[in-house]
Amino acid sequence: MDLIPSLLGKSASAFVKFQVVACHPIQPEEEFVMPNYYCKHCGQRFTSLAMLEANRCIRHPDGPQNHHELYEAGEQTHYVCKYCGQKYFSIADMTANRCPHHPNGRGQGRHAPA
Ligand SMILES: [Zn+2]
Ligand SMILES: [Zn+2]
Repeated sequence: MDLIPSLLGKSASAFVKFQVVACHPIQPEEEFVMPNYYCKHCGQRFTSLAMLEANRCIRHPDGPQNHHELYEAGEQTHYVCKYCGQKYFSIADMTANRCPHHPNGRGQGRHAPA
């Protein structure tokens, strides 16, 4: 009676561990978002109100010697001209054009965000 060494030992069951990769997008943390201040005349963005008010605005309706003015409604997904209702995705795009319904007369002033 020979003791045959069993080759039927425990089969090395190869457990393959699948790394589960999270596929949902990571939500950006909002705690480090810088405040943005936009000029309502030209749409230029500033990270501080002091900077906005310290600089001259080339699109100011009273002339480029005047300083930027805060667009108080803040950042929007789109902007609508308060005179003609045309929609723009940035104040800069909006105020680059003259408004056909401007209160000073047709084309006498730029679109202005509502
Ligand atoms: Zn400006
Ligand atoms: Zn307009």
